[in-house]
Amino acid sequence: EISQRLQRIGDRVEHGSRVADIGSDHAYLPTYLIQQGIAASCIAGEVNKGPWQSAARQIQSAGLTDRIEARLGDGLAVLEPGEVDVVCISGMGGSLIASILGAGEAKLVGVRQLILQPNVAAPLVRRWLMEHGWQLVAEDILEEDGIIYEILEARPGDPMLPYEDSTRTPADLVEIGPHLWHKKSPVLHKKWSLECAKLRMVLDQMTKAKSAEAESRREEMEKRLNWMEEML
Ligand code: SAM
Repeated sequence: EISQRLQRIGDRVEHGSRVADIGSDHAYLPTYLIQQGIAASCIAGEVNKGPWQSAARQIQSAGLTDRIEARLGDGLAVLEPGEVDVVCISGMGGSLIASILGAGEAKLVGVRQLILQPNVAAPLVRRWLMEHGWQLVAEDILEEDGIIYEILEARPGDPMLPYEDSTRTPADLVEIGPHLWHKKSPVLHKKWSLECAKLRMVLDQMTKAKSAEAESRREEMEKRLNWMEEML
């Protein structure tokens, strides 16, 4: 029933921990974490009433009201400091994930593990972690139903450590993902090839446009394409 994406997120969670799943929607991840004996307890946070109600219904129908609590509120505001060991945020854009973390930074005191799955803009999340004392300890990439997902796991630590590499700059590695880069996974290669192809297509169409503004945008994109092709 649960997607491979959520399973991969769940299987990273430290055993016996207290977990918050922020933007939990149907509370499928907390349900999995409790049913598999991974988490001791979960809080399912939701900012929207509809998803919060579906979370509550799911928890009720799974018979897990004593282990999972659905809370209505924005991001990490649903948490008290020290209340959880692990925070999961999945299925939203990277900029929203970074802004939730930034707005709720005080609630992250005592949190030992962040598991984040940005649908887009993963580099924004890597950069946030790097600039806020979180060490990216692992990354995963998978394809499910034709969509490629990246999962980032971070712990308090030396944020620059994963970016120490003699062949690539930290800026390059923030873009591509330092652990993904070292693993050279075929899914990563596919993701980048697809992005290159898309960029190339857009560029072809832009060459026909003739304004100065279009020209400088085209040059910028060409630079990025060259850089991406070189990374591949
Ligand atoms: N986490 C689940 C997953 O990965 O399948 C659900 C992802 S769903 C696409 C995104 C959910 O995040 C929505 O239910 C939305 O209401 C919730 N959300 C968006 N912004 C939020 C915020 N600031 N705080 C809490 N939840 C939020």
